[in-house]
Amino acid sequence: MGPRPSAPTSETADPAPTVEEVMELIRQHGGRSTTPRRMVLETLIGAPDDHRTAEQLAAEVHTRNPTINESTVYRTLELLEELGLVNHVHLGHGPSQWHLSSNHPRWYLTCTYCGSVTDTDPAVFDALVNDVVTRTGFTIDSGHFAITGTCARCATPPD
Ligand SMILES: [Zn+2]
Ligand SMILES: [Zn+2]
Repeated sequence: MGPRPSAPTSETADPAPTVEEVMELIRQHGGRSTTPRRMVLETLIGAPDDHRTAEQLAAEVHTRNPTINESTVYRTLELLEELGLVNHVHLGHGPSQWHLSSNHPRWYLTCTYCGSVTDTDPAVFDALVNDVVTRTGFTIDSGHFAITGTCARCATPPD
């Protein structure tokens, strides 16, 4: 994990949902409001711009409530993803990282050299997405895989 640049302005415009709002959504989808679900949500909502592996999340939840084991956290993440409340992203070769869903698509740029992650304004990619769907009929899925490259810092040779 490299240092994260400050969040772009388009991200800060979206307030994170409250745990109660998300639990209400789960109930609307026929799910129950269980303690593990609540704890996973609290952990994700506590740091909405963060990305964490399922393992890291499970460790955080386990610290707060040792009765909740790793497999419960994994199942909870899958359920929350089916409901569209959380997503995972593949930032590199390691395990995928989980985060709260946002209303707008994200594009992650990850640096091959230092591992830093930048999420860009989705509008930057609008023209590309529209062009690809027009030419090929293929709709690009933003946010599932990161786009790899070299960050500005790593691209600048040291003095
Ligand atoms: Zn870099
Ligand atoms: Zn995936």
